Amino acid sequence: MAENRQYDLIVIGAGPGGYVASIRAAQLGLSVACVDKADALGGTCLRIGCIPSKALLDSSEYFSLAQHQFVDHGIKLDGLEIDVPAMIGRKDKVVKGLTQGVAGLFKKHKIERLTGTARLTDAHTVEVDGDDAGSLTADHVIVATGSSPVELSELPFDGERIVRSTEALDFEVVPERLLVVGGGYIGLEMGSVWSRLGSEVVVAEMTDQILPGVDPDLAGPLHKALTKQGLDIRLQTEATKATVQDDGVELTLASEDGERQSETVNRVLVACGRRPHTDGLGLDELGVELDEAGHVVVDEDYQTSVDGVHAIGDVIDRGPMLAHVAEEEGIACVERIAGQAGHVNYEAIPAAVYTHPELAWVGKFESQCEAEGIDVEVGTFPFQANGRARAFGESSGLVKVVADAETDRVLGVGILGPRASDIISECVMAMEFGASAEDIARTCHAHPTFPEAIKEAALDVDGRVIHT
Ligand code: FAD
Repeated sequence: MAENRQYDLIVIGAGPGGYVASIRAAQLGLSVACVDKADALGGTCLRIGCIPSKALLDSSEYFSLAQHQFVDHGIKLDGLEIDVPAMIGRKDKVVKGLTQGVAGLFKKHKIERLTGTARLTDAHTVEVDGDDAGSLTADHVIVATGSSPVELSELPFDGERIVRSTEALDFEVVPERLLVVGGGYIGLEMGSVWSRLGSEVVVAEMTDQILPGVDPDLAGPLHKALTKQGLDIRLQTEATKATVQDDGVELTLASEDGERQSETVNRVLVACGRRPHTDGLGLDELGVELDEAGHVVVDEDYQTSVDGVHAIGDVIDRGPMLAHVAEEEGIACVERIAGQAGHVNYEAIPAAVYTHPELAWVGKFESQCEAEGIDVEVGTFPFQANGRARAFGESSGLVKVVADAETDRVLGVGILGPRASDIISECVMAMEFGASAEDIARTCHAHPTFPEAIKEAALDVDGRVIHT
């Protein structure tokens, strides 16, 4: 039982937003308590999101490469087998190592870690229910409670046959047939994992493209690549009915033209968005303003409508629901509490989809610029013409640079190709420094490397591309 304690800051939620905010606050000399209802620190990202999904994506990609691509490199394998429990065990080990790492950082920074469900009873008081039950007070409280998967009334989660991403990270056997509802990044990543391991995967996406909102020049070729890998992607298709049986689920899929198809699958993964997690926090009683979708409304200081109560990460009304956004917001929020000038540049936030090939982007797409009436020049470069990609055997995809037609300033970059999630950082940095396409084009890039494709796309903005 925690005694009644006074802190400078209480953080509710130890995801990437909350734990990073706690560490930064401790660095700035604040006394900090961080409360999370889960046994392990790290939130959705470390426990049931970014990290376990990438661990399985990496394992399943090795399997897929060994099955289909090693032979191109002159490597022949016999008797290749998959050991799903070992793969899941490795994933769990990765997660454990990282969540324990956060616990170590908390100790190092003398952050008080409390396990239990937190609730605000006034702007400065947090009641904790659970292992470390008690009442805590602080000058400032940060709500960093994240988000949870949206549940569809026609497809209620049962944890067994109709599942959320959390359970899809722990299937003990490869489902013979898996229906993924939602062609967003979580659905495509988890669909890729199980498809690579042998599942027949059907993806039902309501809109007319996978990754709705993403530049079709990038999403289109990814759709083709995933189809080639065996994913059966059905656009403008909605799952309207599900009947759970002993050995599977019978589903009705309705396409936009009114056609109905019946599908029987072993499992259904519903991955059609996440909603802010504010249940039971006492925010309504306190008068904290929420928007229509239930996000906590914050100002540029990440201050809510109630003085002293701040919010960051997936739970707030700005920025994409991504781990690195939550981290940046955590740091900015705490620095502002400490009187510093922390800020987040929402114009330069990278996003990545860890499919094969990977897709990553930063800034605006060409279509967004058009919609905003901004004249742009566009440069593209295919990985087919990149030496490193050819040597590596991963030459599908392209880089697309969008620059302001008048000033040449880079407004956005999209990359579909090898290591897109890593190499996009160069473009984020360029945008942070207000670079022009010419700046990237005149920056010497090591040869042969994947980022040379970025330089070539930047050269193409001015019609000076060399290798195509
Ligand atoms: P969270 O990480 O959700 O943490 C919130 C914490 O608050 C949780 O630990 C929860 O237990 C705790 N909590 C909630 N209510 C209470 C309460 N009342 N009392 C105490 N504790 C409470 N993002 C990326 O950037 N890259 C990726 O590759 C990526 N992959 C993903 C894959 C999957 C399958 C999923 C589901 C998500 C993925 N995300 C990814 C999204 C990312 O996980 C989230 O954007 C990120 O975790 C949000 O951080 P947060 O700190 O706002 O909240």
